[in-house]
Amino acid sequence: MAGNARFSVTYKGTETFVVDLVKKVCTCSAFQLFGIPYPHALASTWASGLNHYDFVEDWYKKDAYMATYAGIIEHMPSPNKWPQTGLNPILPPPNQPKVTKKRGRPYKANPLRKTVKRNERGKRQKAKERASGSQQQQG
Ligand SMILES: [Zn+2]
Repeated sequence: MAGNARFSVTYKGTETFVVDLVKKVCTCSAFQLFGIPYPHALASTWASGLNHYDFVEDWYKKDAYMATYAGIIEHMPSPNKWPQTGLNPILPPPNQPKVTKKRGRPYKANPLRKTVKRNERGKRQKAKERASGSQQQQG
C-alpha cells in the first residue's frame, strides 16, 4: 500500500477516530475486534480508492474454511462399540425432578392492574345505572 494509510474519520461531527489500514486497527477497537471492515474502515478504504475486500481477515475467507474441513472427520460408533476403560461409567445426574407439562393454555395468575381497575369501574357504573333506573321508576 502506497502513501496514506492512516485516516482520521469523524463520526456525526462529534467523535473522531484514527484508522490505520496497514495495521488494520482503529481507535474505536472495532476493526481489530471483528476483522471485517466496518463504517470507519470502509470510509478510509473508499477515500483512498482501495478495495475493502482486501481488508477482511484471512480467517473469514474460503481458504481458511476449506482448510478447516480438509481433514477426515471419523464417524462415531454406537456407545456399545466404545472401548471399555474399566472406570465408572458416565450416568445422568440422580434424582432428577420429573417435569410434566399441563395441557391447554397456561393459567394467567395476575391480570393487569389496569384490567382490574377497569372491571371495578364497570361494576360501579352498572350499580349506579341500576340505582338511578330504580329511582326513575319510583318518580
Ligand atoms: Zn473505528
